[in-house]
Amino acid sequence: MKDYDVVIVGGGPAGSTLAWALRRHAPDKRILVLDKQTFPRDKTCAGWVTPAVADALQLDLADYRSGRELQPIHGFSIGMMGQTSVENDHGVEPISYGIRRCEFDHYLLQRCGAELALGQKIKSLNRDGDRWVINDEISSPLLIGAGGHFCPVASHIGAGPGSHEIAVSAKEIEFKMTPEQSAACRVQGDIPELWFCDDLKGYAWVFRKGSYLNIGLGREDNHKLGEHLNGFVSRMQDQGRIPNDLPGRFKGHAYLLYNHAQRPLTDDGVMLIGDAAGLAYTQSGEGIRPAVESALLAAQVTGNLTTYSRDKLQSYVDAIEARFGDRPESLDPTGFRLPAWAKLKLASRLMQTHWFTRHVVTNRWFLHQEVEPLTADDPTVAIAG
Ligand SMILES: Cc1cc2nc3c(=O)[nH]c(=O)nc-3n(C[C@H](O)[C@H](O)[C@H](O)COP(=O)(O)OP(=O)(O)OC[C@H]3O[C@@H](n4cnc5c(N)ncnc54)[C@H](O)[C@@H]3O)c2cc1C
Repeated sequence: MKDYDVVIVGGGPAGSTLAWALRRHAPDKRILVLDKQTFPRDKTCAGWVTPAVADALQLDLADYRSGRELQPIHGFSIGMMGQTSVENDHGVEPISYGIRRCEFDHYLLQRCGAELALGQKIKSLNRDGDRWVINDEISSPLLIGAGGHFCPVASHIGAGPGSHEIAVSAKEIEFKMTPEQSAACRVQGDIPELWFCDDLKGYAWVFRKGSYLNIGLGREDNHKLGEHLNGFVSRMQDQGRIPNDLPGRFKGHAYLLYNHAQRPLTDDGVMLIGDAAGLAYTQSGEGIRPAVESALLAAQVTGNLTTYSRDKLQSYVDAIEARFGDRPESLDPTGFRLPAWAKLKLASRLMQTHWFTRHVVTNRWFLHQEVEPLTADDPTVAIAG
């Protein structure tokens, strides 16, 4: 049996950030990150990150950009499908970045400093006294579920696919454009395009990152997702915005938005972070920032603990609620309390204004500019002793 102080299941942004942050808070802890995949691995994602993520991770952007794609974003083109879009330039400083998840996640995992067990699935999880025994060969008093939406640790503590009412279903394709496709593509790298579905239940995007193009659509309603996607792709192709000859197939994935998730975040000796906990921002679906921030909060709470009862881990639950807010009773992602017909009418008019697309859609819904970045050294939560 190999003993650790913390075993993290999942080496995505949540898992690698927790391992990295624990090295600062508790350098003596023996940490294992276990993932069923070997890295670099792909993750279905548009690959858009906000500067708050770079700050929280203390990313050295010059180092990151060497040999990897880092597309600065200076604005967004936003519209409702079937209407003309509005383009806003937000100035010289990048308001976001485009990254490739295969590169980003690999970079974070490599630098986290923990022992890695890659290409290893969870086959069994058992309790032995106050320790977890994983696959009959690894033991730890603290088990972290960072395995994304289908995390086996989340399922083990009673939260998993099927136990929630509304998940986002999304499909995405990312590919390297040929020189001919690049020359013909009308989407600009520093101004990605966001196209909202006319029922406001989701949106599509076209992100250009250097010579890579990422196209996708996500909805909080997986009914006819393929039809919505096909309609969007055809419209974009008819307008010459994306190539007619897309290589490969769109890949699908699901995840929960914060306001609609009901996952228990802790139990005795166990915590969920990132998508396993259902933390993605409700309006934008941004999940990388909440994944990273939940990991930093988990590190602050557990850093100097040696036993991990549910009571002791309660300060993590409190910290998540303090950071991301109470979950509202209304399931309306826009937060507007209006009848559906009035909301759609209003939205279609507002989406054609620079003011609304800049200040509400971009600055509030997507960039969360009012929320200060969390950093690894931020004493936001009291560390329980
Ligand atoms: C189509 C799409 C587009 C998106 N676009 C964006 C975007 O542009 N920006 C943004 O911020 N967010 C985006 N998101 C959300 C974002 O991808 C997630 O919120 C984010 O990846 C969560 O990180 P995580 O570390 O919690 O989980 P993940 O990144 O999913 O990592 C989980 C890890 O756990 C491993 N794992 C899973 N099961 C097991 C198991 N049984 N045993 C061992 N290991 C396991 C997986 O291999 C994986 O490496 C998008 C999501 C989708 C579906």
